[in-house]
Amino acid sequence: MTDHDFSFETKLLHNQHKFDATTGGVSVPIQHASTFHQSDIDQFGKYDYSRSGNPTREALEEIIAELEEGTHGFAFSSGMAAISTAFLLLSAGDHIIISEDVYGGTFRMVTTVLTRFKIEHTFVDMTDLESVEAAVQPNTRAIYIETPSNPLLKVTDISAVCDIAKKIGALSFVDNTFLTPALQKPLKLGADVVLHSATKFLSGHSDVVAGLAVVKDPLLAQRLGALQNSFGAVLGVQDAWLVMRGLKTLSVRMDHSQRGAEKIAAHLKNHHLVKKVYYPGLADHPEHAIQKRQSLGAGAVLSFELASEEIFRSFVNTVELPVFAVSLGAVESILSYPAKMSHAAMPADERDKRGISNSLLRLSVGLENPDDLIKDFDAALVNIAKGGVLAAK
Ligand SMILES: *Cc1c(COP(=O)(O)O)cnc(C)c1O
Repeated sequence: MTDHDFSFETKLLHNQHKFDATTGGVSVPIQHASTFHQSDIDQFGKYDYSRSGNPTREALEEIIAELEEGTHGFAFSSGMAAISTAFLLLSAGDHIIISEDVYGGTFRMVTTVLTRFKIEHTFVDMTDLESVEAAVQPNTRAIYIETPSNPLLKVTDISAVCDIAKKIGALSFVDNTFLTPALQKPLKLGADVVLHSATKFLSGHSDVVAGLAVVKDPLLAQRLGALQNSFGAVLGVQDAWLVMRGLKTLSVRMDHSQRGAEKIAAHLKNHHLVKKVYYPGLADHPEHAIQKRQSLGAGAVLSFELASEEIFRSFVNTVELPVFAVSLGAVESILSYPAKMSHAAMPADERDKRGISNSLLRLSVGLENPDDLIKDFDAALVNIAKGGVLAAK
């Protein structure tokens, strides 16, 4: 039996870094050295300087490459470092088509930094293939997909958009942060570059900031590797180790959190103080069928809009279990306020255009018992009703 016969859950533990070849240690050693002694004048060893290559970082890069079913992985100091380095594959005069409700930091990079380097962009509703086609220009060199999108959980048909990219000779980038390779494998659906904020589900414990990129084409791997080394935003070894430790439990965490998200989404959908629930796992989500076809699940993030900003404020002040914070994908549930957090970098009129209202909350479901979260939410919503917020309206 080869490694490839094992399932994803098993590969999280039984990969080529299961134990250290020299000591048998069942944990990847942390190699702090920045430089490596060379014992031959003419022939340097595999490692010379840790920005260019480090065994601890490399272990993580090999593990993520295998999990995403690519050939080469690259670890960066943050998700934005991974994304920004991937954008360096483009040149002045190029044009990008990009999901309109993309992560706020990516929006900022594209609109305020890349523009200064004469890289143009068009935001599109990526769920509408015609508008993707319509946005194509002679200089379109990349299509950038985030699916499910943030915070409205819109789902893009990855193969269909990658086909458009191929047809016009453009690269396709997919931000796979929300679903991770446990649920979705963009490279298998035709993407060229998969990007991650490993800060989220991959590491999973709100204790490290990291980014990853994976490609399958060896030539593209060479170009991205050269950019990683040139730009230099590499991941530190302690952080690489933390991501590797988090990865071992990725499947069980995703399973539990996703089941919780399904339950909570169904519950909130029936609550009279909840205006709308956004979760691709709900049968009436507009892209539910695409989500089912291209992934193994809808993930553990959902968004919901409360009936008014007043109710929203009272809810956030009353609810006890989730931390109220930016970020997602952790063992503890995280409640975020997209308008003021992940999408604060987006101007108010742009947020309005995208439906990111001031009473929208995003919930990343953690490892609590989902029934406790439901109890907590219900209690907060009852409190609102008793507090007379509704009557005051
Ligand atoms: C958090 C996030 C990023 C940015 O990652 P950092 O690790 O914070 O730099 C990019 N994309 C998505 C979808 C994210 O959630």
